[in-house]
Amino acid sequence: MFHRIFSFLLLSVFLFAGLARAQDLKPGKAKPKVIVVGVNGMELDIIRPLLLKGQMPNLASVVNRGAYGKLRTVSSPNCPRVYSTLFTSTAPEEHGVTGFLVGGITANTNMLKQEPIWSLLSSSQVTVGMANVPATFPVMPVNGYMISGMLTRGKNCEDGVLCSPKLSEVMGGDAVYPKTMQAELMQNVGDFYIDCERMPSAADLKGHELPAIDQWLSKVQVIREQQNKLFDYLLSKHPTDFTFMVQSCEDRVGHWLYPISPFNVGYNASVNSARPEAFPNQYIAFDKVLGTILKHVDDDTYLFIVSDHGIKPLREFEEKDPHAHMDHEKTTPVIAKHDFADGDDVPGSFFVMGPGIKRDFRVMGLTASVYDIAPTILHIYGIDQPKQMHGHMLSEIFEKRETKAAAGN
Ligand SMILES: [Zn+2]
Repeated sequence: MFHRIFSFLLLSVFLFAGLARAQDLKPGKAKPKVIVVGVNGMELDIIRPLLLKGQMPNLASVVNRGAYGKLRTVSSPNCPRVYSTLFTSTAPEEHGVTGFLVGGITANTNMLKQEPIWSLLSSSQVTVGMANVPATFPVMPVNGYMISGMLTRGKNCEDGVLCSPKLSEVMGGDAVYPKTMQAELMQNVGDFYIDCERMPSAADLKGHELPAIDQWLSKVQVIREQQNKLFDYLLSKHPTDFTFMVQSCEDRVGHWLYPISPFNVGYNASVNSARPEAFPNQYIAFDKVLGTILKHVDDDTYLFIVSDHGIKPLREFEEKDPHAHMDHEKTTPVIAKHDFADGDDVPGSFFVMGPGIKRDFRVMGLTASVYDIAPTILHIYGIDQPKQMHGHMLSEIFEKRETKAAAGN
């Protein structure tokens, strides 16, 4: 619904964009540069020890130079539901993307009923670049480029739910805007996977758990290396004012390979004792991707690292609920999850650094929420927060004098 109206409006905006950009080139008129990196289901319980052990040096450098804290999420959080709240600052019932499936149909951008941040920024002549952001398929026109992410449909991934078509295998809509960019990506980055790999089913695992786990983990690493190459290419060759890139493999590994000792609900020794380092290793590998991104971050760039929710081991009262032990596709046994009715049990997290952001500052409690990210980014660009947005600008992370300066941009 919103999609069609928006496409029309944006087209008229672009007709004037050329003029606007010429003005922007005047000294002092440059737009702020903001990079948002989403890490699905990033869990602080796992990350903290890695930071202390020096195994995530890039994230540690962001912590030292910026502000961080937990990010309150919505009830029954999952990626499409929370990301759509994150980029519209409205409740799932309002933006319409209430889960992986809505009315039996895989969530898609045609269902989005509230204006997302990339559209608000595009209308204000901010250039926008997006890659692998969940629930952005089919892609929408922006003042820049968009490459879809989780929920992209394609070969061997007909429903688009938690699987990974390659760029050349996408079906049922466009995965790249503008269309002409697809050939360029194929040539310079290769035929990459758009989302993370589907988890092996219980039947695939039975009797050969270890080789099946290792094979799956090596595919996950291939996907991450492709994403690393894609992000590096886009940030080098297509720099934009606002860039939003997301990784999703960490969450998927956590669901079934969360390192837990026995006695937990769902524990299966043949799977869960096989590779106890697999899940922490995902964050160590993410830290290397972050290192690539940091090469494109200078002192004038705002960097946000955000997660939509955390992930926790199954809880004792779920022992007798067979549905609690299976993933969204109902094929893989899981030992950890996040779609608890009480989202406060699985908060996400955020790390921010940039001009005027407090350094080495911890936001306590659950005062920041996924609703607050879009308003905070709009504030950085000096764009008024639309009425429908429920979140608030995270004033506590800005140095006091800089808050005024940023608002005057
Ligand atoms: Zn998940």
